[in-house]
Amino acid sequence: MSKADTCIVIGGGVAGLWTAWALADSGINVTLLDAGKVGSGASWGNAGWICPAQTGPLPEPGLILHGIKDLAKQDSALHFTPSALLRMGPWLAQFARYCNQRAYDKGVEALTTLGYPSFKLIEQLGLDRHCDKTGVMAVAKRRSDVEHFVERLTLLTALGQEPPGEILSGDAVQDVEPVIGRGQSAVLIKNHWQIIPDRFTAALADEVRRAGVTIVEHQRVSSFDAHHGIVHAVRTAEGAHAADCVVIAAGAQTADLTRQLGYPMPLIGGKGYSIDVVPTRMPKQAVMGLDTHIAVSPMGGQMRIAGIMEFSTSPETIAKPRVDALKRSAANLVGSWTKESVPWTGLRPVAPDGLPLIGRLAPASNVFVATGYSMLGMTISPAAGTFLARSIIDGDDGATGPFSPQRFRKRHIQM
Ligand SMILES: Cc1cc2nc3c(=O)[nH]c(=O)nc-3n(C[C@H](O)[C@H](O)[C@H](O)COP(=O)(O)OP(=O)(O)OC[C@H]3O[C@@H](n4cnc5c(N)ncnc54)[C@H](O)[C@@H]3O)c2cc1C
Repeated sequence: MSKADTCIVIGGGVAGLWTAWALADSGINVTLLDAGKVGSGASWGNAGWICPAQTGPLPEPGLILHGIKDLAKQDSALHFTPSALLRMGPWLAQFARYCNQRAYDKGVEALTTLGYPSFKLIEQLGLDRHCDKTGVMAVAKRRSDVEHFVERLTLLTALGQEPPGEILSGDAVQDVEPVIGRGQSAVLIKNHWQIIPDRFTAALADEVRRAGVTIVEHQRVSSFDAHHGIVHAVRTAEGAHAADCVVIAAGAQTADLTRQLGYPMPLIGGKGYSIDVVPTRMPKQAVMGLDTHIAVSPMGGQMRIAGIMEFSTSPETIAKPRVDALKRSAANLVGSWTKESVPWTGLRPVAPDGLPLIGRLAPASNVFVATGYSMLGMTISPAAGTFLARSIIDGDDGATGPFSPQRFRKRHIQM
């Protein structure tokens, strides 16, 4: 039996949209409010990969050392600005603690439950017609980097994912993907769907409306009417919206809202960049630069270049050295292009352990969160939405499990 008949979902990125759909599909009356247009946050200019093979947490063994080593480099794929280092110190200390093999393996195991199931949900809504199922080619200068990547995939294969193809070297790389520069090794991952994020999200929003959800755009939630930890209504400039429960899926801004309710969450925005170009030769499928950490995605007549994880205190600033580095890496990987767009930037919501926060904010609260999808939002949101809808309907207190939003509460890392 459902404990909630009505629900307000705050945020219309992929996290909010898929949650709203799953709740409506379970018979709950849902209203979704977005501060702008749905799909205009991080869900807009990303690489558009639905790629269960990537379902690992951001903190990897050795990553923090790599980040510290590259601190002075303006063009490294992982970048902390000096002001961010000062401000995010407690968060970074926590992040560093998860950069080990044990935490990584546990994270992969947890995230895998949200990877593959998403394919089925996308098909269920008929949205796979917007997916190009051509796979992704993972490429690196050093064969050992590709071997290391394949080795990591065995962890996923053991958890039920399809194994990757053979590692290719020499001419065999160009036989599969002619645009890749000479002297690289590669491996083709077939279980990967490519979408054009804005089109996919618009089609998803149509399905969400069709499921009965009322979507209201340009309604920023500014405060809550709450009593004893229970929210009765959320407030926007237009007035109050009442509901039995509230899901906060406001991406990197989620923590601003939970803090108002007395529950600070250690969630920060990891800035990423993308640019769209018209390439001289279009890759046949997506390309992953394993050593450069960039994503190259064919999107209709254009190719999107995406990457960089920058922790900065100025979320909207476009840092030219980072954009230049992205372009240099892409040109080395897949060749030249003629036209290019203005760079886009978006904030990935990231928790210190790199895992999502999906569930009840506090045991007796009627507020839930669906966020922290980091680099994987397009891939895991469908299954994450269903997971949250099930927890809400089952009356789960959200205190346990790898995605529990309450898992950091004792540590109280405030930003
Ligand atoms: C460069 C880059 C490349 C990426 N590539 C991939 C990829 O290939 N595959 C993949 O799986 N993931 C990828 N990601 C990650 C993915 O984009 C994110 O995980 C995902 O978009 C997060 O979705 P979200 O709904 O949580 O947040 P968002 O998309 O940011 O949505 C949050 C929404 O909340 C709204 N909002 C905020 N505050 C309020 C408020 N107070 N009231 C009402 N509404 C509010 C905003 O307007 C926004 O629409 C990439 C990210 C980046 C930056």
